[in-house]
Amino acid sequence: MATNPSAACRSCRYFDDHKLNGAAAQGDEGLCRFNPPVSQPEPQGHGLWPVVSAQDWCGHFSPEMMAGE
Ligand code: SF4
Repeated sequence: MATNPSAACRSCRYFDDHKLNGAAAQGDEGLCRFNPPVSQPEPQGHGLWPVVSAQDWCGHFSPEMMAGE
């Protein structure tokens, strides 16, 4: 249960809506950059950033206004 309705990925400093794992952004989805890439499928493959929706949220939410601080 979200206690703060503004605590959504769209307003989180770690949300990146510019591209999805090398492809164009789709809908309201974006990448969560809180952690390093995960699930590297092959030794020569690239790790993947978790894809989240703008209205998703998690316990690591941090307001965008804090970016760069
Ligand atoms: S999943 Fe959590 S840390 Fe990642 S963008 Fe959404 S609220 Fe931020």
